[in-house]
Parts: sequence; structure tokens; C-alpha cells
Amino acid sequence: MDLNNLTIEAARSAVQDRTTTAVALAEEHYARIQKEDGQIGAFLTLSKERALEQADRMDFMAAEGKPLPPLGGVPVGIKDVMSTRGVRTTAGSKILDKYVPPCDCTAVTRMEAAGAVVLGKMNCDEFAMGSSNENSAFRPVRNPRDLNRVPGGSSGGSAAAVAADMAVVTLGSDTGGSVRQPASFCGVVGLMPTYGRVSRYGLIAFASSLDHIGPLAKTVKDAAIVLRTIAGRDPMDSTSADVPVPDYVAELDKPVRGLKLGVAKEYFGEGLDDEVRHAVEGAIDKFNSLGCEIVPVSLPHTPYAVPTYYLIATAEASSNLARYDGVRYSHRARGAKTLSDMYRRSRDQGFGAEVKRRIMLGTYALSAGYYDAYYLKAQKVRTLLTRDFDEAFRKVDAIVTPTSPTAAFRLGEKSNDPLAMYLADIYTVTASLAGIPGISVPCGETREKLPIGLQILGKHFGEATILRVAHAYEQAA
Ligand code: GLN
Repeated sequence: MDLNNLTIEAARSAVQDRTTTAVALAEEHYARIQKEDGQIGAFLTLSKERALEQADRMDFMAAEGKPLPPLGGVPVGIKDVMSTRGVRTTAGSKILDKYVPPCDCTAVTRMEAAGAVVLGKMNCDEFAMGSSNENSAFRPVRNPRDLNRVPGGSSGGSAAAVAADMAVVTLGSDTGGSVRQPASFCGVVGLMPTYGRVSRYGLIAFASSLDHIGPLAKTVKDAAIVLRTIAGRDPMDSTSADVPVPDYVAELDKPVRGLKLGVAKEYFGEGLDDEVRHAVEGAIDKFNSLGCEIVPVSLPHTPYAVPTYYLIATAEASSNLARYDGVRYSHRARGAKTLSDMYRRSRDQGFGAEVKRRIMLGTYALSAGYYDAYYLKAQKVRTLLTRDFDEAFRKVDAIVTPTSPTAAFRLGEKSNDPLAMYLADIYTVTASLAGIPGISVPCGETREKLPIGLQILGKHFGEATILRVAHAYEQAA
């Protein structure tokens, strides 16, 4: 079976009609991982036993002529920030090097209930902090399109595996761009749903008011199938929304003619690479020719988004990461003399440089005397950013922007300059702060054949619309 261009439906129907078996499909993917992943580094842990058991179950159903569930026999990968019962889950950190969770993340449970075959756990930046996957404590991931370049981050392994046909789809997490940006760098589709759309039970927390789980896929339709599978209320996550889940797949083919698409000048300013600008402008022309109305909108607080995000995200991270103290679950340093010495040494040995930087930034921002000036102020600006979008969405159905100001950069190019790395998150952190959904869809290439991503942002719980717009573009492009 040709692994290239294997979509969810192609894989599922091949298993259903016995053209292949789910076991053979899993084995072929493992063979591909064996061959390619030494260079790329997308997987941290393989869950072969679990995968083959599930594949067997799907083959049994198919052999009995029973209809397979929507992801029946489809090989998938899970970012290593999502708990998998009995399968090591590290969050890309040495501090969780040996952590084997006692339960599954709800999104994983739902994927498996829909028949997905979990091949393994995907490499990522440590605790999802990063934009290049160079902050993984284990190894960086290389971009399959150019091995000297980063795949983006923090869901770099999830994006690279889909791009290199080592999984049909993967789950990633997005706090400030970590699904959308690596999708754009690797030339795949990446969707961040509305805050609360997908349960985060079992997700290792980075910044709880910003964390989202979302799919990385080869096609918009595959992203829609996965979202339909994982979305919806979960009693185990009180922040998951009790909002009905539409049939995202059925809505994909509705015409886009007459839709109003916003274009904000704040997303086309200084720092935007010319080739990216050109590609995104080309996409806007394409929407015009599809009968969409292009409407200028203004998102005036955009310049404050990066500092706001890096205050709130680090503050929440400093609080969330306090639990890794060497007592339970996480790495414990040897040779400590006292309890506080044990805490200190365990955290010092277990966390990498970027995670430590963020814990210090966040602790500072929350400390007495600075709270009002930093954290509280940032929350107020967050409200203004959200209002910008509310205002814009009174006039338009979706907003189109570049996903990232540049295509994939070289390994090492920004790793010694955290500020440059943070600033490149400019187009993705706004939606995260506002809690609205966003999707990145491939939109051409640079002269050097590096993928470019087009971002489409929607209203709260407006995933059906952005998926439809992305699908129309994908079909037309
Ligand atoms: N690049 C951003 C950061 O480093 C976003 C990460 C994410 O979305 N998890 O925080």
C-alpha cells in the first residue's frame, strides 16, 4: 500500500474492504518510522503492543463485515504531553523521563474509541514551550522538507510525522501556536479549536487558560474528522464546553460564495517575509475569485499580543510546574541532605534552560508588588485583544492571515535568542489569548521549496466555518 497521500478515509476503507489489514498498515508505518525517523526524530516512544492489539480488533470487525468506526485502523501519533496509560509520557522533559501515566487523556480515549491505532508518542519542546522543537530534552526534530531546518514547535514531532507519512494524523497541543505554526512549517494542516471545545483531561498542563488540543493532518477533511471525534463536553474537564458538536465533515462542502473574509493590516506589517506575504495575498485573491467578499478589519491591539502572551503563559506555567518536586511522578535527585535541597536539586536537574527561564519569568510576574503591574495588566490587555476580535467578527465570518512571518528557519538560527523566537509567535498568540479557533492550511512554497501556511481565524465555536473556508482553499489551490 502506498503510504503517500493516505488519508483517514483511504486508510479506513482499505481496512474495511480488506484491501489491506490494520495490522499490515501499522507494520508498514513502523517500517517507515524505522527507515526515516532516525534522521527526523519525530517519535519519542513507540507503543507497538497497544497499536497491534487495537489493529487486530479492527481487523476482526472488518473480517466479520461490521462497519468500522470513523478512524478504524488509522495509524496516528500523540504528542507526548498527552497521557497514555501504561505508555511513557515525558512532555519532552527529563523530569518526566520515566513517567508512565495511570490513565489516558480523554482525547486519546476518544481517538481509540473511534478505531485509531496509536503508533507512539511524538517529540515536542519541553512542556510545549517553544517554536522550533529545539527545546526537547531528548533531541531536536528535523523538518522532513529540509533536514537542516526546524519543523516548528512545540508540536514539531506531530507535524513532521504527518509530513513524512509516518502517521496519517496526529494530535498536538496549541497554547500560543504550537499546532498551527509547525503545521505551516511542515506543509500540513493544523487546527486549534475554540478554548473548551476539546477536553484537556490528561493533558500535561503548560498554561491552563491557553492550552488546547488539536489535530495535525494531511487534509482539511481529516482535521474535521478528528475534531468531530475528540470535541465535546467531558465531565472530567470542567473547562470543556457543553456546546453541541456539529458534523464538521458534512459542512465542508457548503459553498463559500458570499462569505465575508476579514484582512487585518496588523498582520501584514514589518517583519513579514516577502514570499510569505506574496503567498498569502495570492490566497486572498483566490478567495475573491471563489466569490468571498474581502473586508478590511482592524485588530489594533495586536502589537501587545506577544508581551501579553509571554506574561500570562509564563505565570501560569510557573504555577503548573510547581508540582514537579521530585516527590511523586517526576525525577528525584540523589544525595540531597534536606527536603528543600531535594526539591531544588530535582528541579535543577530535571528542567531544561527554557523551562527554567519561564518559571523564573512567571514567578517574578506573579510576585507580591509586581502582580498588578504585570499579570493583572496582561489580563486587561487580553480583554482588549478579545474585544478586537469581537468587533471584527461583527463584520466578517472569518479572518485570513499568515500563520508565521517566515517559513521554517534553520536549526540553531534562533536558539540563542529567546526574544527573537518569541516575537515570531506574533500571528498565532492573538487567537490563543482570545480563545477563538484557528487553522493553518498549506499555501504554496518559498523559492527554496519551504512550505508557507495560511491561517484562518473564526468566531468562538466557529470551527465549521473555518474548516469550510480552509477546505475551499485547499480544493481550489
Ligand atoms: N511558541 C509558543 C511558546 O513558546 C507557543 C507554544 C505552544 O503553543 N505550546 O510558548
